[in-house]
Amino acid sequence: MPVIESDCIILKSYGLSEADRIVVFFTRDHGLVRGVAKGAKRLKSKFGSSIEPFSESSVSYFQKDAVELVSIQSADLRRASFDIASRPEFLQRFAYLSELLIIFSQPHDPNETLYRMVRSCIETASDKDASLEAIGVYFEAWLLRLSGFMPDWKSCGNCGRALDAGVQLGYISDLHLVCANCLHLPNARELSASAFAAYSATQRTTPADFAAKYAGDPTELRELSSIFKRIIERAIGRPVPLEMSLDAGAFTG
Ligand SMILES: [Zn+2]
Repeated sequence: MPVIESDCIILKSYGLSEADRIVVFFTRDHGLVRGVAKGAKRLKSKFGSSIEPFSESSVSYFQKDAVELVSIQSADLRRASFDIASRPEFLQRFAYLSELLIIFSQPHDPNETLYRMVRSCIETASDKDASLEAIGVYFEAWLLRLSGFMPDWKSCGNCGRALDAGVQLGYISDLHLVCANCLHLPNARELSASAFAAYSATQRTTPADFAAKYAGDPTELRELSSIFKRIIERAIGRPVPLEMSLDAGAFTG
């Protein structure tokens, strides 16, 4: 039984028995993995803060064929999370985002671009002044794109014309965008030019630059995020987890 080693981001952990914890972590080399950390609930556990949610650690684990839970042998902390994880607003936002990541990821299916995006978003959020709403929108945009659920937002979903920045656009019930000429469609609803510009910005910049540009949580973020949540709902076939309590107002729109 070979030992597998990889850098990872801890997504969540919970008690399994009196002494052990289950840890869900997103590895750079093997994607989403669930494992058991034996003895992790003991006071003098060898794991310490290396399996705290949103820490970045280097883990090694055994994987038995046909057993979903791997056996975590060791975890070395690379970047601690206690500063950010002590902030309730960070925990609430990232509990939701990591739940999305878990839903959208196939276990043991590596995606290094996604790994780097997630790590970069957590790093950006470690600046306590960074807009968590902007980071959340950036995360949603890239998670949808990298998992193949983002509709083509480069051309009109009705006539195929390339979409222009800076003009009023719309979206239709399958969540494709439509150009200004197709806004008359009976099921088209308006998308502001500034919300489309914010979407375009997610595709061109780092989370840190995006969060700086959209500091102050302007309304276009909320507009964009409410459409992302509809795309997520369609992809997973049920309501978006946790987010209902986060900003239920945006969701009902
Ligand atoms: Zn059109």
